[in-house]
Amino acid sequence: MQRTKTVLIKSVQAMLIYTLAVATPAHANTEYNLPSLGDTSSSVMSREQEYQMGRAWLSMLRGAVPTFDDPLLKDFVEDHVYALAETSQLEDRRLAFVAIDSPQLNAFAAPGGVIGVNGGLFLHAHTEAEFASVMAHELAHLSQRHFARNLQQQQRMQIPVMTAMLASVILAAAGGGDAGFAALASTQAAAIQEQRRFSRQNEQEADRIGLKNLQQSGYEPSAMPDMFERLAQLSRFSRTPPEFLLTHPVNQSRIADSRNRAEQLPGEGRRDSVEYQMMRARVQLKYEQSPGLAAQRFRILLDEHDGDHAAARYGLALALIRGGQLDEAEKVLEPLLTSRPRSIPVHLAQVELDVSRNRLDEALTRLNGQLAIHPDDYPLLQAKTDVLLRARRYAEAEQVSNKLTSQRSNDSDIWYMAAEIRGLAGNILGLHMARAKYFMLAGDLDQAGEQLDLALNRAGDNFVMSSRIQASKDDLARQRELIKNF
Ligand SMILES: [Zn+2]
Repeated sequence: MQRTKTVLIKSVQAMLIYTLAVATPAHANTEYNLPSLGDTSSSVMSREQEYQMGRAWLSMLRGAVPTFDDPLLKDFVEDHVYALAETSQLEDRRLAFVAIDSPQLNAFAAPGGVIGVNGGLFLHAHTEAEFASVMAHELAHLSQRHFARNLQQQQRMQIPVMTAMLASVILAAAGGGDAGFAALASTQAAAIQEQRRFSRQNEQEADRIGLKNLQQSGYEPSAMPDMFERLAQLSRFSRTPPEFLLTHPVNQSRIADSRNRAEQLPGEGRRDSVEYQMMRARVQLKYEQSPGLAAQRFRILLDEHDGDHAAARYGLALALIRGGQLDEAEKVLEPLLTSRPRSIPVHLAQVELDVSRNRLDEALTRLNGQLAIHPDDYPLLQAKTDVLLRARRYAEAEQVSNKLTSQRSNDSDIWYMAAEIRGLAGNILGLHMARAKYFMLAGDLDQAGEQLDLALNRAGDNFVMSSRIQASKDDLARQRELIKNF
């Protein structure tokens, strides 16, 4: 199947067209049949419109930037942001996540409960509480509905603020290396500049509310000023500061302000976890030049702690597995299995090792043992699917993958994999359905439509199937209409 992630420019242009239209608020309530919820910002955009628009935008973003398909990392981000949302002021907790494959520091929130994280955030946030402080800040942008409020403020100027904000996310995700994006950058620069000027107040509010949320969620509040200090250092030492710093300029007064507020809150909250450090190690390994170099770095850290540093040991084991040094990896990993017998990432590292050695039965036994304890765990189910695929047990792989598609029905990675498995299992109708869903989630509605037509052909006179496909076609038509209206 042709993945759409390479079709960058086309998608961005499409996105710009409809976000530009969104920024023209006159159309907001007159041409829509969507319910107006009557909140304060609804003269510009109702909550439901904001939701629909954000989700449509997310599908375009997914089609335009490389995403980070790492189940453990995705699961970690989702779990921790949902936990923060529990103590936030967010009313609508329907969240959607996108992990972007970029070592640049960035995180963002977009209308409709969309939370985005670059891999680079893990590189720069040294502790779990620092990571959480950025996420709490982003959640505050959502709970305070800064997007709708921005639109309202800028109504008179008709500034394409959403366009600027959304384009800057894509720019950051692309790392500025693409010529098309560079061109886009210059034309959008003015609008982005304008948006930044407007958002200073929003930033202060997000800091203040995010900090409270951080503390209420059990984290040490001083992690937020700590993270700001780190960001300030980063901008001091890099010639091209990461996008997050451009939209979130950190000056001494901002640091001091958040430090003062943090000191007034009860402290002694949670700072860090081994699990977070393991996720960091995964990201560090991914962005290191080679597994060999990563292994060197993890080994130094491990030696500095006389072998007693779980995350360094974990990173070293993974680096050795990926570098093909399997005997050594086995030796390095073994103490972790003993000391952290309940850690899913550790078990999955052993599974990765077993798979590299082609010990597929051992890998499956371990996965089944873990799944008996955590039957719905996404990373475990994903790993089991992968091992079954490798063992060419396609029918069983399809069963596990069906569980994932029902659990994570809006995850494009899951549908991409499901299509592959159904093809191998000889389920051609299912293959077209999965592809259609994937293309819908990745913002390519034309291809989604083609897949549904192919599915309809296959369904023949199977009435149940045909009506399900027809329902998907109706869905698609609605999404098309939505984007057209934008
Ligand atoms: Zn912000």
